[in-house]
Amino acid sequence: MNTEVNLRLLICGMPGAGKGYLIKNLKRVLNNQKKTIAQIHCKDIIKEDPLCRQFAEKGELLPDELVISIFRKKLEMTKGNIALDGFPRTFNQAKALLDIDTNFVIWKIQVNQETVLQRVQNRITCHKCGETYSIIGKNAPHIEGICDSCGSKLERRVDEKQIQKRIEIYRKQTEPAIEFLTQQGFKCFVLDGTHLEQNDIERYINETIGWLYS
Ligand SMILES: [Zn+2]
Repeated sequence: MNTEVNLRLLICGMPGAGKGYLIKNLKRVLNNQKKTIAQIHCKDIIKEDPLCRQFAEKGELLPDELVISIFRKKLEMTKGNIALDGFPRTFNQAKALLDIDTNFVIWKIQVNQETVLQRVQNRITCHKCGETYSIIGKNAPHIEGICDSCGSKLERRVDEKQIQKRIEIYRKQTEPAIEFLTQQGFKCFVLDGTHLEQNDIERYINETIGWLYS
């Protein structure tokens, strides 16, 4: 594999599609190849920026201009491989990305809604570091109820109404924004959300690099 290749991935999929799990495995695969990938995550950005925190604490949506200016700075500062998670979420943000960086390839996780709701019911979260796990299956923590990353206690938080609402917002705002980017020439790979193991991800990486160099 050519070491000069920059993977700039725009990771998207409805809430619960498995973005976190995908990125975790993506990091492992690249790490095995002695490579790294910078994760630019909307959640971290909210945590880092005092103004964003104010909006989030009040439960208000972040204004597009604020989100765009923060992501613009972050993207301009970050070299090499990037996994972009949680941006763009709206049409205006997608339009801004066209102006910031058009080298992204979209990785869209396809999954049906029943699967998502079932996963949400099985989800446990670490309140200290934000890592998420599943009670059962491959994404379960090594020790039941304990965070692999920081050793804190895991808690279960199910709020189906909130998830339904987030899925609706994703369908109304984010999906059309991503669709717009594909119309503008961004290549989109559709990933099967039920198969996001390391060997699947290796295959997606190879397909993406193959496309970038075709
Ligand atoms: Zn933790």
